[in-house]
Amino acid sequence: MSHATQANINASAVRPMASGRVFNFSAGPATMPLEVIEQLQTDLLDMRGGGAGILEISHRGELFEKILQESEDAFRKVGNISQDYAVLFLPAGATQQFGMLPLNFLADGASADYPDTGVWTSKAIADGKEVGKINEIWKGADFGYRRTPRAGELKTTPGSTYLHYCSNNTVWGTRWVAPPQPAAGAWLARDASSDIYAEPLDLKGCSFLYASGQKNLGPSGMTIIVIRRDLLKPPVRKLPSMLRYDEHAKAESRLNTPPTFGMHAVGVMCQWILRQGGLVEMQRRAKTRSDLVLAAIRESNGFWKANAEPESQSFVNILFHAANPKHEALFFKEAANAGLAALAGHKATGGMRASMYNAMPVEGARVLAEVLRDFARRNG
Ligand SMILES: *Cc1c(COP(=O)(O)O)cnc(C)c1O
Repeated sequence: MSHATQANINASAVRPMASGRVFNFSAGPATMPLEVIEQLQTDLLDMRGGGAGILEISHRGELFEKILQESEDAFRKVGNISQDYAVLFLPAGATQQFGMLPLNFLADGASADYPDTGVWTSKAIADGKEVGKINEIWKGADFGYRRTPRAGELKTTPGSTYLHYCSNNTVWGTRWVAPPQPAAGAWLARDASSDIYAEPLDLKGCSFLYASGQKNLGPSGMTIIVIRRDLLKPPVRKLPSMLRYDEHAKAESRLNTPPTFGMHAVGVMCQWILRQGGLVEMQRRAKTRSDLVLAAIRESNGFWKANAEPESQSFVNILFHAANPKHEALFFKEAANAGLAALAGHKATGGMRASMYNAMPVEGARVLAEVLRDFARRNG
């Protein structure tokens, strides 16, 4: 339901978008650019004049072959991804990778390092432990998940196979300032589900990256994998084909009937990013949005409180609380009336979370900042 048309309560902040759409702060599935949705709407009815929509054409046909190639090309172009890496579009979300990664690479008797920096890494650790030995080399819970490890704090395990980390912790709103350094001989695996393409991509030292679609790239139910080609070998144990990266790569992401709509949507989204000016521009916007909201929180003199310590503050997910929890219900109501939707925090954290991925207009952050300031002034 759109709240944007209910123009009352706070006249200064009521600014519905002309489209009738709300400023949607959902953590995922998240808002998409109107232009992208309109393109997809067209493609649903008729994919490039063929008389059939994107949902209706064969994943083996010539047209889809071309669409998939375009999606991969656009994705590679945005991230400047070299041919040293394969790009795979896999069914199921990032959560599937929590099991698939160790199943393929963590041999019996070997171990892998997993710093726990939030809800998603806790789940990755739990699933990893179903497969093999996981060294929990950082316990973010000891720090209230308010920051990630500082340089020199992380003790990696000699002989470990890989180090898995989550570069942006969607739920707690923290990020790594620099990637961790795995143990000598170990490689780095990154869950980039919520910060992929929010800034220029640095794959240096990273052998395996994965990101689910629904935050910055397109629909849920699929995951993009960027994997160094030298990792595309038969897995360390016998596995069914759908759980093997090497088999997915060999079949060019069409081992079965894949999520064709999502594969196309990622391409349309990446073309949009390129038209906007690429990742330098995406980073500039993310910084502008987060600066706007964080300034309003900071200048409220403790009325609002950000969860993350400033050094670890995510640019795309801002978790904050009201010093007086009683204010939160009223805030959600007023925010909704101002056309600001989906600001509730995750069930693990409570409070408010503003998720502002690439498709969030800077104007959305400006309106949120204004509502935060106005609310604090009236209720403080
Ligand atoms: C959303 C998210 C996931 C889970 O993605 P699913 O598609 O729901 O499996 C994993 N990791 C991070 C960092 C996320 O933000």
